Amino acid sequence: MIHFVGAGPGAPDLITLRGAEMLKKTDCIIYAGSLVNPALLEYAKPGCRIHNSATMTLEEVIAVMKEMEGAGKDTVRLHTGDASLYGAIREQMDILDELGIAYDDTPGVSSFSGAAAALQAEYTLPGVSQSVVITRMAGRTPVPEKESLASFAAHDSTMVIFLSTGLLEDVSRELIAGGRKADDAAAIVYKASWPDEKVVHCTIGTLAEAARRENVTKTALILVGGFLDKGYDRSKLYDPGFTTEFREATR
Ligand code: SAH
Repeated sequence: MIHFVGAGPGAPDLITLRGAEMLKKTDCIIYAGSLVNPALLEYAKPGCRIHNSATMTLEEVIAVMKEMEGAGKDTVRLHTGDASLYGAIREQMDILDELGIAYDDTPGVSSFSGAAAALQAEYTLPGVSQSVVITRMAGRTPVPEKESLASFAAHDSTMVIFLSTGLLEDVSRELIAGGRKADDAAAIVYKASWPDEKVVHCTIGTLAEAARRENVTKTALILVGGFLDKGYDRSKLYDPGFTTEFREATR
């Protein structure tokens, strides 16, 4: 059987208990070496086969899974963060379906959650934004035209921009084209939860300059939105005047 496992954003103790158990028991780990913390491989039992998928093609990954399955052994496919975001798991699952190989999927802590924790921030502030857009700039991998950064920027919601640290001039331009202001707050979170994590506060207009100054070229998220500012409304949920299923209003 194949177990897809989300490794979390970096810190080895941010994998789930279920994910760690799977790493301890498995006969083979194929990990995304470009981003998964190699410290997680210390969970592997003696004799566990380990492959770094950063240097492998989809066909090579599947070949290893097939070989292990043929020998009646288990494989963990370890993806960074949560595998459902930019994880290229669907194409693996579809081939496994064709081959009749069973698999399951264990979620992970995505880097967008890791970045909020690094910022000590809440993405969904009452009165500010109740939506989070997770997106990326089009680069060598295209993004559907209807999903341009400018079109999402027009919503004024919280935005978490993946895979775009090399394109920050374009990110600024698109955000401004969508109606954000050059001096609106922005943040860059580099390697959230790793020992060399960096949190850089800047503005939409100074994203590229801030990244250059801090030597951030990859493994970072770009965050924009009013959640980075000071103002917001109190929550209704914890308001003494608000009755919920669990609590009567006290005034
Ligand atoms: N599935 C992953 C995302 C994989 S795409 C997840 O859920 O987080 C890889 C991109 O994710 C990187 O280019 C970067 O934008 C972001 N990323 C991954 N780990 C990160 C981390 N620890 N800190 C900041 N950004 C990270």
